[in-house]
Amino acid sequence: MIAVQSLYKKFGEVEVLKGLDLTVERGKVVVVIGPSGSGKTTLLRCLNILETPTSGSVQIENQTLDFSGKVSSKEIANFRRLTGMVFQSYNLFPHMTVLQNVMEGPMTVKKEAKAQVEEKAKQLLAKVGLADKETVYPFQLSGGQQQRVGIARALAMEPKVMLFDEPTSALDPELVGEVLRVMKELAEEGMTMIVVTHEMRFAQEVADEVIFMDDGKIVERGTPDDIFKTPKVERTKQFLRLIH
Ligand code: ADP
Repeated sequence: MIAVQSLYKKFGEVEVLKGLDLTVERGKVVVVIGPSGSGKTTLLRCLNILETPTSGSVQIENQTLDFSGKVSSKEIANFRRLTGMVFQSYNLFPHMTVLQNVMEGPMTVKKEAKAQVEEKAKQLLAKVGLADKETVYPFQLSGGQQQRVGIARALAMEPKVMLFDEPTSALDPELVGEVLRVMKELAEEGMTMIVVTHEMRFAQEVADEVIFMDDGKIVERGTPDDIFKTPKVERTKQFLRLIH
């Protein structure tokens, strides 16, 4: 489903991703952990080309972008539709209602018919438990509710892969569970997901695979039990000792 090869990303002189290879099978949930600054967010942003990789290639389904050569903005726009991204800071449109937020992408980017988009948006809001919030504005919602709108909005574009960048980090502790529950349901429905998170219990319960990143590279990958119970690389062991 996803194949990343030799991915490099530099910001000026600073090399943040240092030749990263990653494959993810369809329907799998991959949780990415690692210290701050190790390149986790940059990896996600390179997967939907919010950042342009310096070199390497990214493949999702049957579309491949090879950044060793020239890549057109049209190719990037098409490629971006394959992924839905959920950010730490929700990023909802403040002047639009919840329903309008979810409808915006399919209406403007995909130019789908309004009635059809509206019906789908309503279904998605029901799915994330917000059927009764269609007409309110983001500021009237809790952080957990806003993030669930963020998930519905990403899903409205019918992506093949969902990318989550620390989706619960900005939330008060009592609101984390409702967002993780929606993500877990999505995983159970067979969505392919890459999740950057510090929620180790979520990783343990939901991930098919956990990836430990450090210094722009994947240091170790394995099942949650492999990584959390029997990590092999010293750097992984150190990191896990620090967070426990
Ligand atoms: P993580 O998500 O693991 O905390 P990031 O991918 O956010 O790591 O960042 C990795 C490194 O890249 C950090 O040192 C960060 O300062 C740097 N970085 C990220 N984005 C930019 C940018 N737009 N310009 C310059 N440096 C950046």
